[in-house]
Amino acid sequence: MEYGKVTAIILAAGQGKRMGSSVPKQYLKLEGHEILYYSVRAFEDCPAVDEIILVTGGREIEYCQKEIVEKYGFLKVSKIIPGGAERYDSVYAGLLAADDCAYVLIHDGARPLVTVEIIEKVLEGAMTYDNCTTGMPVKDTIKVADREQMAVETPDRSTLWAIHTPQAFSYPVILEAHRRFREGDYRVPVTDDTMMVEMFMRKRTKLVEGSYRNIKVTTPDDIEAAKAFLRDQEA
Ligand code: C5P
Repeated sequence: MEYGKVTAIILAAGQGKRMGSSVPKQYLKLEGHEILYYSVRAFEDCPAVDEIILVTGGREIEYCQKEIVEKYGFLKVSKIIPGGAERYDSVYAGLLAADDCAYVLIHDGARPLVTVEIIEKVLEGAMTYDNCTTGMPVKDTIKVADREQMAVETPDRSTLWAIHTPQAFSYPVILEAHRRFREGDYRVPVTDDTMMVEMFMRKRTKLVEGSYRNIKVTTPDDIEAAKAFLRDQEA
């Protein structure tokens, strides 16, 4: 399928406080390689992706250039830029650096189990719907809690999905969504980019199934799970 120019923005500017490690979590090594290596590898290997922009901490740019891009010979990484205080600031920096593409993929560098198949599936969704994410139907019952930690609602589980990355967008649509968000004074926590497009561009999000293995490595427990999945994937 012909997509026009496709740019992937890989986010690695978070501090990973929930991991409790002195090394930012994206540089922790699992099965011999950094978490960020595996994330970049999938986009490098995906034929539909033309360019990769890495967004990292301002002090980690040189490290990332030497220890990830040069060490592994990633050819599609065109820029390594500093992120911002919040995830959406890092995404916006990536969007401004992306300029002339038709579609953009946004991925959490902390999800090393992304695959070429998942990337291609979300891109196809974005071609039809402009706004597409991967995720999976939830397996647990989900409750909405109030401030006293009392359940106030139990939504019908069959309608609920856990949302992952990568997410894919028509570039002008996601750029305009972020611009509108930044012009306003919104107090809603914005935790992903499909939400930006829903709120500010009034477009619905297409959901495509990825994998239960495409976890975000956030806490030490996730490390063991990610190692087991990576061993399996590499085998
Ligand atoms: O904090 P959270 O787990 O939602 O972060 C998801 C991804 O966004 C991670 O890969 C993290 O490095 C990135 N991030 C970022 N800039 C921030 C916060 C998070 O690039 N300010």
